[in-house]
Amino acid sequence: MKWNKSKIQNPYAWLDHSLDTIHKANWYRSVQTLQSLPGAVVQLEGREVINFASNDYLGLAGDERLIQAAVMATKTYGTGSTGSRLLSGHRELHQELERAIASLKQTEDALVFSSGYLANLGTLAALVDKRDLILADQYNHSSLKNGAILSGATNVNYTHNDIKDLHNKLNQYRQHYRRCLIATDSVFSMDGDLCPLPELLLLAENYNCMVLVDEAHATGVLGSTGAGCVEHFGCRGKTLIQVGTLSKALGSLGGYVAGSSRLIDFLKNRTASWIYTTGLSPADTAAALAAIQIIQQEPERRTRLQKNVSTLKQLIQHQLANLKLLPSDSPILCIQFATATDAIIAGKQLQNAGIFAPAIRPPTVPTSRIRISVMATHELSHLYTLIDAFKGINSL
Ligand SMILES: *Cc1c(COP(=O)(O)O)cnc(C)c1O
Repeated sequence: MKWNKSKIQNPYAWLDHSLDTIHKANWYRSVQTLQSLPGAVVQLEGREVINFASNDYLGLAGDERLIQAAVMATKTYGTGSTGSRLLSGHRELHQELERAIASLKQTEDALVFSSGYLANLGTLAALVDKRDLILADQYNHSSLKNGAILSGATNVNYTHNDIKDLHNKLNQYRQHYRRCLIATDSVFSMDGDLCPLPELLLLAENYNCMVLVDEAHATGVLGSTGAGCVEHFGCRGKTLIQVGTLSKALGSLGGYVAGSSRLIDFLKNRTASWIYTTGLSPADTAAALAAIQIIQQEPERRTRLQKNVSTLKQLIQHQLANLKLLPSDSPILCIQFATATDAIIAGKQLQNAGIFAPAIRPPTVPTSRIRISVMATHELSHLYTLIDAFKGINSL
């Protein structure tokens, strides 16, 4: 059929309608400007607030040692790495960082990516294809979900942290596929609970499956040396694939995969999101390297973080007993609200009270909530101010 050109055509008009729909659902998002160094207290949109919105769990993103490492690396190697790692983009620093990650994780090797998102996209797409099966927790991070789609594998979700459902799905699907990969966040980023790793590894063994865990919120935070959830559960001897980020507790930018040398060798040859992108900048690489040294040398940061988390949990349970605190074993604590509008209003009222703790709502999560990230550098007074601010919220 011939295309019938009408007088007025605007192929972008749908954007207005789409934005309208987003606004009507109260799903519209926009950025807020932070105007200071990162930390427990920051300048946000011209106002000093206590920061419960940051992934900088150990307070390292503003640490003088990371800043100096980034400055030195920039002076020595320049601002950009100028090419992909396999061409002109590889520096000694990258190798040092990869060795440091492998040593922290006690794996044979590691590989750094430009972001955790790219590490997940590329790794999933490299490990499985349309002959294979991915069994994924329904609450997995967007990068795991999109990596699963990109891979072309059959992608089956199991109910969040439900080992029985995973078991059923293995029984139902496993036999029909060549390889199977079980993929899960280790600390769930929008809930704060942990995956049941030992049970999951046992099932994987019985059904001959690979396991990929995303340690984004666990690295530097969980385990006695800060190696993550795998260390926390005492599972470091097991063969598995660990992905993570340099941008949360490590205070820099970038992602990583840690595992066997065979795995890393394979990824260097088959992962498009590593091969066809520019190597991590010298500044980011050096800052992450400095951070790994600090998390190993200063375990007291993790102790302070854990203390702050347990104090805040107790305060919430005792003083805000009417609130619904979601189950969590990490520094991510979520207070559930009935509707997106309630959560947004609460977020605004908190901000007016000098507290930065964002409302997280659909489509990011199924139920609306205020998400609180605790830092090692929060002081007791910051936690009290948070509690008082919650008490002042009208809709509660
Ligand atoms: C933040 C996050 C990522 C992405 O890491 P970036 O380095 O920020 O791209 C991946 N997975 C999870 C679970 C995350 O929370």
